[in-house]
Amino acid sequence: MARAKTGSRQPTEAVLAATPRQHEVLRIIRDHQNITRAEIGALLQASASQVSRLTAPLIARRVVTVEHRLPHAEGRPTELLSLAGDTHYVVGIDVGGLAQEAVVTNLRGDVVGAAHRTGSPARSRSSIIDGLVDLVDRAIGKSEIPREQVLGVGVGVRAIIDPVSGVVSAGPEAPGWSPVWVDFDVRGQLARALPWKQLTIDDTVRAVAAAERQYGAARGIDDFVYLLADSGIGAALMIAGRSYIGPGHLAGEVGHITLDRDGPLCGCGRRGCVEMYASTSAMVRRGHAIDPSIATMRDLIERDLRDEEPFRRILAEGGNALGRAIGILLNLLSPALVVLGGRATESATYMAAARARAREDSLELPFRNARIVTSEPREHSAALGAATLMLNQLFGPAPLSMRVSRRRSLEPLPVDRIQALKGAPS
Ligand SMILES: [Zn+2]
Repeated sequence: MARAKTGSRQPTEAVLAATPRQHEVLRIIRDHQNITRAEIGALLQASASQVSRLTAPLIARRVVTVEHRLPHAEGRPTELLSLAGDTHYVVGIDVGGLAQEAVVTNLRGDVVGAAHRTGSPARSRSSIIDGLVDLVDRAIGKSEIPREQVLGVGVGVRAIIDPVSGVVSAGPEAPGWSPVWVDFDVRGQLARALPWKQLTIDDTVRAVAAAERQYGAARGIDDFVYLLADSGIGAALMIAGRSYIGPGHLAGEVGHITLDRDGPLCGCGRRGCVEMYASTSAMVRRGHAIDPSIATMRDLIERDLRDEEPFRRILAEGGNALGRAIGILLNLLSPALVVLGGRATESATYMAAARARAREDSLELPFRNARIVTSEPREHSAALGAATLMLNQLFGPAPLSMRVSRRRSLEPLPVDRIQALKGAPS
């Protein structure tokens, strides 16, 4: 089995911060991106000197950097603290049935190197692991950073996986997967092949949702649903600031909500699941049956834009099926936000049908209280999601209801909120 070249085995918990209080400061700096010591003090209810004592070692270790920003008017320049962009890194790997990708990001989540591979993962477990190790090596090579500066690896797998045990429990029915994935201890085997002690693994949908919460449309929001409408349909449920997976780690399988018991046969063995209408694979399959030149979602969208009715109907019916799933989620969870991602959302026809059906199928108040948005298309989003899982592990989860302001000035949190944050488990 391939071994990654030299790497660090140092205890990374100690690299970022030595004490729980420093960890708290780091999380605040991470969530606010740029923040003054006074603002940190307000959030922590700590004095200026206490904050300086907490931040000094982080700056000395180059986990945090200080930027001087000139004031608009007279006065001293403001000192803004942010995470260092060039001293510590993590790797994120996205493992899909038809493609795999690894990225290297800095502590801020900026991608500094990436490597990609198309084709199915190998048919044997040892060669799957060898392939992933090679991908990590190539991504680090592209980033041109010293391997010793990599703190850990996050992995997102497009399969049903238990993030606690790191074992894939059910092979996906999607193309490119083989039965060797079932009961495959991916994390255990990768941990033996890679030099880093910090390794975390989860379902890709939940990984992407983690990135949406840290950097995207769901920034700072505690209650939201991330719905991926791509070759499969899956949801990540963020409830009260925590990713809800359920005891059997199966929560979020909205793609297999039954819409029509006499509908097309699904890979799960049942009929008429949401996925059989709303996924890109189902829609492309239907389009291909009408015109064999249709091979991708792009083809379908183009034909819809040319006002070709049969293809418009396929997209509208797909969006309608997704809208039924959204309606159920709205009534069930009443989230503040639904973020829709995946290639299906690139179709305006699909999205309009999804919204219209969600509105019809949900109660008025949950619909009105929820914003339904499309995620910003982002390069490497799945691998970045996997890297975010690792960063979340290193920094600890974002504190509950730590509302992130997009503006420079922060709204101070009320005292009871700050006390609640202090008591919040991390
Ligand atoms: Zn199904």
